[in-house]
Amino acid sequence: MSKNEEKIVAFIGPPGAGKGTQASQLKSKKGYSVIIAGDILRAEAEKKTDFGIKLNNTMSSGKLVSDDIVIEIIGKAIDRNGGSSSVTIIDGFPRTIAQAQGLDEILSEKGMGLNKVFYFEVSDKTAVERNSNRRYCPLCKKVYNLRTDKPAKDGICGVCGARLVIREDDKPEVIMDRLKVYQEQTAPLLDYYRERGILTKVNGEKGKSELMKDLEYELND
Ligand SMILES: [Zn+2]
Repeated sequence: MSKNEEKIVAFIGPPGAGKGTQASQLKSKKGYSVIIAGDILRAEAEKKTDFGIKLNNTMSSGKLVSDDIVIEIIGKAIDRNGGSSSVTIIDGFPRTIAQAQGLDEILSEKGMGLNKVFYFEVSDKTAVERNSNRRYCPLCKKVYNLRTDKPAKDGICGVCGARLVIREDDKPEVIMDRLKVYQEQTAPLLDYYRERGILTKVNGEKGKSELMKDLEYELND
């Protein structure tokens, strides 16, 4: 498949809106590629390089990472994934107008363009509740939810047996900060994509399988 036939879509919305869950389900059900901005950044932040340590400090305080850095990292991920599936989902990116413009630039350099942007709408209440239920395996990176996707053994990863942790940026006080930062920086993005005619809003309050049906319908046209 040539790169020009590959659809690039972005999932945006506050943390806890269900973007990651939907992206990973679409990956296993439809074979779509998924680029998870947060995971790529976290992988960089775990490296004990000067860059990694700086990135780690920024992320654990709930602040956004600078646009240049994220754009560069996302660009490399698109290259690695390029053409391997009919749809590539970029999950959790862009978050600012500058990132959106940067993404447009790197895609056009590759002869590609963003086909659709899905905005996952969700209340603060739901977002906080979902994030504080999240547990994370530091070893194999699997994410659990104590309400909807519990590990079989309390506090233990069912895949690799490691002890689960609460990620720094899933702690309630950090979540509130993330939501505030999100609203301020990301809200203008909706106008940006609405004007381009590629914005689709989806209801993040819906259950997993209902929301999945909405997305499949939108992606199949
Ligand atoms: Zn694990």
